Amino acid sequence: MIRRILARHRLAIRFWSGWFSTSRSGRQIGPRPVLALHRLPDPNCPHCGGLGEVTCGSPGQDEPGYDDCHCAPFLPLAFIWLPKPPRWARRPVRNRDPWASNGYSDEPPF
Ligand SMILES: [Zn+2]
Repeated sequence: MIRRILARHRLAIRFWSGWFSTSRSGRQIGPRPVLALHRLPDPNCPHCGGLGEVTCGSPGQDEPGYDDCHCAPFLPLAFIWLPKPPRWARRPVRNRDPWASNGYSDEPPF
């Protein structure tokens, strides 16, 4: 139900287990779990065609880079900090990459 409402507004709620944020004073907060409200790519977007990313690269570059399309910025529209899980509930974290698509990645870093 809530998923359908969110989908209609091209929004999605994602859980990030280790989010970093920089406060206005420049102090880094994190990693802490957050619930973030993300904008989903526009399926009719003329720039990315609904993929949410656009290739950007210059001739002479070996591999094209990918950039977030303006219709789907990477940074969430809003997020709420969640309380840190108690120590006993924390599992050993190995190579948690907060920039991966769903909070973690099984692939080798490079
Ligand atoms: Zn787009």
